[in-house]
Amino acid sequence: MNQSDTPVENVVIVGSGPAGWTAAIYAARAALNPLVFPGRATGKDLMPGGQLMLTTEVENYPGFPDGVMGPDMMQTFFQQAMRFGTRVVSDDGVQGQDDASGGLYMPYQNVKKVDLSQRPFHIVGDGGYECRAHALVVATGAKANWLGLDNEQRLAQSGGGVSACAVCDGALPMFRDKELAVVGGGDSAVEEATYLTKFASKVYMIHRRDKLRASKIMADRALNNPKIEMVWNSVVVDVLGDDMIEAIRIRDTQDGNERDMAVGGLFLAIGHTPITGFLNGQVEADDKGYLVLKDTYRSTTSVEGVFAAGDVADSTYRQAVTAAGMGCKAAIDAERWLAEQGIA
Ligand SMILES: Cc1cc2nc3c(=O)[nH]c(=O)nc-3n(C[C@H](O)[C@H](O)[C@H](O)COP(=O)(O)OP(=O)(O)OC[C@H]3O[C@@H](n4cnc5c(N)ncnc54)[C@H](O)[C@@H]3O)c2cc1C
Repeated sequence: MNQSDTPVENVVIVGSGPAGWTAAIYAARAALNPLVFPGRATGKDLMPGGQLMLTTEVENYPGFPDGVMGPDMMQTFFQQAMRFGTRVVSDDGVQGQDDASGGLYMPYQNVKKVDLSQRPFHIVGDGGYECRAHALVVATGAKANWLGLDNEQRLAQSGGGVSACAVCDGALPMFRDKELAVVGGGDSAVEEATYLTKFASKVYMIHRRDKLRASKIMADRALNNPKIEMVWNSVVVDVLGDDMIEAIRIRDTQDGNERDMAVGGLFLAIGHTPITGFLNGQVEADDKGYLVLKDTYRSTTSVEGVFAAGDVADSTYRQAVTAAGMGCKAAIDAERWLAEQGIA
């Protein structure tokens, strides 16, 4: 298709987690007629609805006093966005509320590439759909890094006591008064371990080296915490348990010996990977790959007309409610910017 024949949108939103759908709700209610690329389900990490599709109970999102299952909550985000006229890009093309009856479980397109050097921006989906957009909201999240063990994934997805987020899951009753393990040695591993000591009887920090990578102040915090015990020079090679984790198998990185350690929960704290490959370096990112916001309190990026929301631009909080808040900001910023340009 000749690029000048492609439809021109006011705002395209890339990603369909809490940030993407909240941006869509605000943009739709502001009569911007937003178009969302919800993303394609590609294995365990990415899927329409975002990371909460991979978890069981969410207890800390306001408005759900009895908790809510992650996928159910994301379905309500989707329905609310669609109700106000949001459109989504599936393999069958652009669809509105009446067509997208499969909810989040449809073959939606990823954005494969964008060209931000031309205006309107040019956007290409991995199912062949192309369009142009005056404004772009990037809400593609950040994948938690996992060890990649089969039993780790099985128990993480079934709610069997394996998690990549202590703040999200640590307070669940299943972890109370248990001995827990945290894998990692950086600042966030110390933060997660310290947080877990509120609930656990003991927290083992499993680290593959003989000293923490964390900053001195954070390392001291872990080393001086009587509830935290360091397990140096060790890597987790398996997670044991049928429905619920019972132990982890760890290997000594120096002599190769393996042993099983009984634990009631395993938390991975080995970093996150922001999903920005499709931008191909056109928007400034920091040294960890998170998109840089030009103004901490807003959603503006290094490219005028491109706004970032949610975990893709937030290495600090990475929570559903903060992602939703950032989605709201991005839609309002986009709306004001479009008005300033005299576009919409
Ligand atoms: C196991 C687990 C449990 C959690 N539990 C909680 C909890 O209890 N409470 C809480 O507040 N937070 C929790 N979190 C964190 C929470 O899920 C995230 O903070 C939140 O989902 C971030 O929202 P987001 O919209 O920024 O990104 P995400 O939810 O990650 O969504 C990103 C979306 O972008 C899509 N995407 C990626 N690339 C493309 C592309 N090229 N084109 C189109 N789409 C694309 C993805 O498929 C996905 O739909 C948990 C996280 C995990 C991993």
